[in-house]
Amino acid sequence: MAVRNILTYGTKSLREPSKEVHKVSKKITELVNDLLETMYAKNGVGLAAPQIGVNYRVFVIDVSSNDEPLNPMVFINPKIIKKSGAVISNEGCLSFPEAYTDVKRYKNVTVKALDAHGRPFVIEGKDGSLLARAIQHEFDHLNGILFIDHCVNRFEADNVLSKFNLPPVEVDRLIDEPELEAELGND
Ligand code: ZN
Repeated sequence: MAVRNILTYGTKSLREPSKEVHKVSKKITELVNDLLETMYAKNGVGLAAPQIGVNYRVFVIDVSSNDEPLNPMVFINPKIIKKSGAVISNEGCLSFPEAYTDVKRYKNVTVKALDAHGRPFVIEGKDGSLLARAIQHEFDHLNGILFIDHCVNRFEADNVLSKFNLPPVEVDRLIDEPELEAELGND
């Protein structure tokens, strides 16, 4: 196991789609262990393989609070099978040190994936919980999508990014989300 270097925004490979895992081999087990160790070392809630320069469809999440026991969750080849509702979420990312901005997310999301032993499982993140939002955030990384692509206000996001010496929002990457917009408009 090792704490790995986390790639920061502006690195090209963060924008590349990741490959399916065909077998939970020793190499994948090592990747999972490195992701967990790196996430805990950096006090993150989640970390996806492309953030450490490995473009495989793997991410880890731990939404436990500091006074709770660790609860590592491993997602291999995840698929989002259900999503509903909308919520605005203030998010950051280990690839964007210190930069936080509001993004649009689904409130509820159900994901199907393989665990660290290659066994299938299904889990639901509900009511705009940290788990619901973290699943969407980490899943996006596997498709080269970053949280700022969902930003509520790109000028605000640009302000924050420049403050922390990160490149600006990539306007052509902004995601059109009529479904979420409609839901948020109804509140
Ligand atoms: Zn991230």
